[in-house]
Amino acid sequence: MPDNFKAIVISRDADKKQSVAVTELSEAELMEGDVTVAVEYTTVNYKDGLAITGKAPVVRRFPLVPGIDFAGTVLSSSHPDFRAGDKVILNGWGVGETHHGGFARRARVKGDWLVPLPGGLTARDAMAAGTAGYTAMLSVMALERHGISPDRGAIVVTGAAGGVGSVAISLLSRLGYHVIASTGRPAESDFLEELGAAEIIDRNELSAPAKPLAKERWAGGVDAVGSHTLANVLSMTSYGGAVAACGLAGGMDLPGSVAPFILRGVSLLGIDSVMAPKALRLEAWRRLATELDHGKLAALSRTIGFDGIIGAAQDIVAGKIRGRVVVEM
Ligand code: NDP
Repeated sequence: MPDNFKAIVISRDADKKQSVAVTELSEAELMEGDVTVAVEYTTVNYKDGLAITGKAPVVRRFPLVPGIDFAGTVLSSSHPDFRAGDKVILNGWGVGETHHGGFARRARVKGDWLVPLPGGLTARDAMAAGTAGYTAMLSVMALERHGISPDRGAIVVTGAAGGVGSVAISLLSRLGYHVIASTGRPAESDFLEELGAAEIIDRNELSAPAKPLAKERWAGGVDAVGSHTLANVLSMTSYGGAVAACGLAGGMDLPGSVAPFILRGVSLLGIDSVMAPKALRLEAWRRLATELDHGKLAALSRTIGFDGIIGAAQDIVAGKIRGRVVVEM
């Protein structure tokens, strides 16, 4: 069939055992939506890794095309905001979880979910940032809204060599913050310094059970790790500081104390990219287009082809991916 296109599909058998296959789909097999997009670039996010490996119940409808984000060109639209030829970005809204996602050359989604590709970004750049970069920007915006300006002190970024971490370091350093990068990969120190990290600490310093309060080390944080790491980051945040919690690469629990909140007035800022309202998305993408250094974006991302997606998904869950992986479709 001429309109067939390659896609990754996750299925589940009668015993609820999940399997992943590369297959062909037709446009008729896409789900409901008022905009059909030619997917040009997508990316492998941590959540895509969880979906493809089945390590966490990310996919909740079967069979399903995973891939929580993509950038491409509108092929057809009955949505008033989009016309054929428009360049668009999609992040979240359950795409790649309950609605067919970006790991296919075509996608059909609700136009309300799409953001126009901002001027200054190519489709590849957008996916080099991807959901991880957009989440890093949402985290930076949350810290700013809380009044955490560069003169308040350092910002710690955990999971530093990963996708959210590497973009967060680039953004924060560009904005003038003193960035402390926490990583388990000391071999990536040069890379992290190149992105703008002023100091690098071993993530083991933050991985043991946290004391209720510890020595104040930073004014804020962007935490992609969760669990003991987030509890330690909070316990070391100075008076009136704030921590943006956006990830769970180290665990979903939060084994900490209320002491930082009630004795130091520290705030924990929750970051969700999936259902974030459109105004926030537009602002985050506008700022990514203007404030993310293109040289650093190139340094922190590499491009693979469609056939590399499954391997990259396994690698990201194993903590082996540095920065961001872009998929050219
Ligand atoms: P990556 O895998 O690229 O980065 C995660 C990093 O966390 C790793 O590179 C590693 O950094 C660190 N890490 C991994 N495992 C552990 C561990 N056991 N203990 C301590 N540190 C660890 O993922 P992303 O950056 O794309 O995503 C990071 C997190 O953010 C994920 O949990 C993801 O699900 C979440 N996320 C949430 C979003 C939201 O809407 N809230 C949106 C996007 C992502 P290093 O090697 O430097 O130590």
